Amino acid sequence: MNAHDSERMKGMLESLGYSEAAERADADLILFNTCSIREAADNRFIAHLGEAKRLKSEDPGRVVGVGGCWAQSVKDEVFERFPFVDVAFGPGQIHRLAEFLASDSLTAQGYFEFEDFSGHLPDKREREFQAWIQISQGCNCRCSYCIVPSTRGREQSRDPVELTAEVERLAADGVREVTLLGQNVNSYGRDVPRERKTTFAELLALVDSVAGIERIRYTSPHPKDMREDVIRAHAELPALCEHIHLPLQSGSSRILKAMRRTYDRGRYLDRVALIREHVPDCALTTDIIVGFPGETERDFAETLEVVEAVGYDGAFTFVFSPRRGTEAATLEGRLAHPVKRERMERLVEAVQRRARERAQRFVGRTMEVLVEGPSRTDPARLRGRSRHNKAVNFEGTGAPGDLIEVEIDAATSMTLSGQERLLSRVV
Ligand code: SF4
Repeated sequence: MNAHDSERMKGMLESLGYSEAAERADADLILFNTCSIREAADNRFIAHLGEAKRLKSEDPGRVVGVGGCWAQSVKDEVFERFPFVDVAFGPGQIHRLAEFLASDSLTAQGYFEFEDFSGHLPDKREREFQAWIQISQGCNCRCSYCIVPSTRGREQSRDPVELTAEVERLAADGVREVTLLGQNVNSYGRDVPRERKTTFAELLALVDSVAGIERIRYTSPHPKDMREDVIRAHAELPALCEHIHLPLQSGSSRILKAMRRTYDRGRYLDRVALIREHVPDCALTTDIIVGFPGETERDFAETLEVVEAVGYDGAFTFVFSPRRGTEAATLEGRLAHPVKRERMERLVEAVQRRARERAQRFVGRTMEVLVEGPSRTDPARLRGRSRHNKAVNFEGTGAPGDLIEVEIDAATSMTLSGQERLLSRVV
């Protein structure tokens, strides 16, 4: 979500005539887009702000702006603590940056009330053929470790008609793959007025019907709201990819309760079974937090059991670190760092081993790959992504944005490799 907000800021600045400076010291405008999800990132950001302060003192005409969740979380004090900041705005007010920069008086101003979605703003996409689409803003959940509800507010869904129009516009602009974004995509549409009521599964069907959109992804679903209609959509809609990112966080029902995740291990595994029933080949990835306060060796063993049982295709793993302003930061039973680190090592070993085993099912298959550019490790080869969201390095002649077929001959836990199948171009 944050990366997409940055694309919109870049697009808006370009339309105002700005271009990117090679060095921060060369810039007329220093703009930070902040994420507040991890406390360590906050701390690092303060150092960047210190550098901006120094550069502004050298050239007082330089404008310093701070957007995003960190700005929202310090909205009451930002100009007192950081008087050199000219403009500050929350994640719902990106459009106000343009107003500010185009106005006659650049005196310190802050914008923190959510007003409207900024889907109409121009964006500067990293790749012309891939686009993010924000379908909702905010979150009504109360996960005890998470700062998002207090920085992005209550959940608000975007109008489905407006969303479909945006997808059509993107398709006409050459986009082949869209990723729908929301804090909890499965609860999309619950707040949409009755005459336009649309469930997330129905929204997926609307996007699938747009000519030119070949791949649809979304992130993130919440296991408590993952319904059968969305799972079935993966089997029925041609563009919806065979990949679901289903955050686990912990395999212990006791810890899930302390996290206020509102599902337990049984409900989670039941969702996995439903996915495997309808889409047997679906790739499954997840997020896991290790060392939540009070996590015992037994709780952690239950997380490992789920990892072994599910066999994820990949996982983002995090060591718990308390986030100021969240309930979890006040919980007792914090674990010593060596304990967390040792559990993390065991978790990573299990995740990677199972992912490597799972990836062998692709060897010998011919898979559709969306070409992204040269391979990072060998520029003579190409790199792209399969519908299962696996990175694929291969020998071939495709250009970025092409969909081509690749014969897979090897697989590790993270990547596949192979050769382009001759005469395979998918038009
Ligand atoms: S579902 Fe939980 S973790 Fe995700 S954004 Fe909402 S509160 Fe945070």
